[in-house]
Amino acid sequence: MSRIAYVNGRYVRHAEAAIHIEDRGYQFADGVYEVCEIWHGHLVDERRHLDRLERSLNELSIRMPMGRAALSQVLHEVVRRNKVRDGLVYMQVTRGVSRRDHVFPPASVEPALVVTARSSQPAAASALAEKGVSVISVPENRWERVDIKTVGLLPNVLAKQKAKEAGAKEAWFVDRDGMVTEGGSTNAWIVTKDNCLVTRPATSGILKGITRQVVLDMIERNGLTFEERAFSLEEAKQAKEAFMTAATTVVMPVVRIDDQAIGNGHPGEMTRELRRMFHETAEVSAV
Ligand code: PLP
Repeated sequence: MSRIAYVNGRYVRHAEAAIHIEDRGYQFADGVYEVCEIWHGHLVDERRHLDRLERSLNELSIRMPMGRAALSQVLHEVVRRNKVRDGLVYMQVTRGVSRRDHVFPPASVEPALVVTARSSQPAAASALAEKGVSVISVPENRWERVDIKTVGLLPNVLAKQKAKEAGAKEAWFVDRDGMVTEGGSTNAWIVTKDNCLVTRPATSGILKGITRQVVLDMIERNGLTFEERAFSLEEAKQAKEAFMTAATTVVMPVVRIDDQAIGNGHPGEMTRELRRMFHETAEVSAV
């Protein structure tokens, strides 16, 4: 079966899908994106992802490429056409195509929209979660507006490549005060020795993850102990458990940070339970 992508109003074969060389996403990383999980034929947390897309666009003064209901239809259609039951749907909106010039193009230039979907292997993800993953620490070197989900991801790309070369799955950025901000494509969490879940407030230094938000909902519903505060790399290394969250990984146990095993070096109980409960709490919409 050939994959299908949506590109500026048309459903096209993925292999032949193309955008213009003067698309501002290509020229300036002048665009934003979202990734939603597809789980058992359902889109996970679509409403929150579209809310965040609208917010990111608003922060950059880029128009929505179409109404929200129409965009939702496109997402579902791309998932259907690609027959994805478990996987990811990706959407990207840029400021559009215009002669290269740093300043915004005329208002008549339409934003550009690309949507793709692909299947994942849930069994492989579960196997990985059973073992847990390693993380390395890297100095924070990103701009201050990491709350906007822009396609400008070069520091994240370099950090994740460094992690890969070190045999790790993720890199945690550490700010000048020694505090963990977040991962290259995930939010960072720890569980303290007295079973308190800790994650950094979304007021600075992180993207306000949708998966993070679902974990906060689980914490509230289950009356778990929780503190929204910054934590240092040293505290993380001494924590009882650590994990990361993202639509691409859901709740993924972290069992090593740099050279330090976390807890007993195996996924922690609390982390496993949060992963198990996740899809009971997230909002899902049938494809
Ligand atoms: N932080 C960064 C830098 C990310 O790129 C992502 C996801 O791509 C996240 C956190 C997690 O966000 P979400 O849970 O919405 O996928």
